Amino acid sequence: MEPSLTTNQKIVLQALEASEQPLGAYNILFNIEKKGIKSPQQVYRALDKLIEIGAVHKIESLNSYIACKHKDCKARESTSFLICQECQKVYEVHENDLSDKFLKLSQKSNFKYSTHNLEIFGICGLCN
Ligand SMILES: [Zn+2]
Ligand SMILES: [Zn+2]
Repeated sequence: MEPSLTTNQKIVLQALEASEQPLGAYNILFNIEKKGIKSPQQVYRALDKLIEIGAVHKIESLNSYIACKHKDCKARESTSFLICQECQKVYEVHENDLSDKFLKLSQKSNFKYSTHNLEIFGICGLCN
C-alpha cells in the first residue's frame, strides 16, 4: 500500500524520480521552486519523511538523494549503491544477505551490527 504523502513530499519525490542522477537538496529546490516550494527546510523535511518510508535513499558521499526504484524496498536503514565515476549514475544493489554477512563479520570482532551504508565506486555498463 502506498503511504499517503503530503503535496511537498510528492513534489520532491517526483523531482527525484525524474532525475537520472542523484540530486542534492539545493538542486531539488532549484527544480521545484516553480511549484511553490521556497525553502531548503521544506525540502529537507520532505526528504526526511521520504527516507523514513523507504521511497528515497541518501547517498552520503555525494550528499545527494535518489528515488528508490524498487517497490517495497527494505533498505530503510542499510543501503548499498554502485556509483559510476564517469556518469555519476547510481544503481541500488539489492542483496538481502549483505546484512547477514556484516552481522557475522561484526560478531567476530565482538561488535554489535546495526546498519550499513555501502557506496561502491567504479564504471557502469553504459560507460565502459
Ligand atoms: Zn531502495
Ligand atoms: Zn556510467
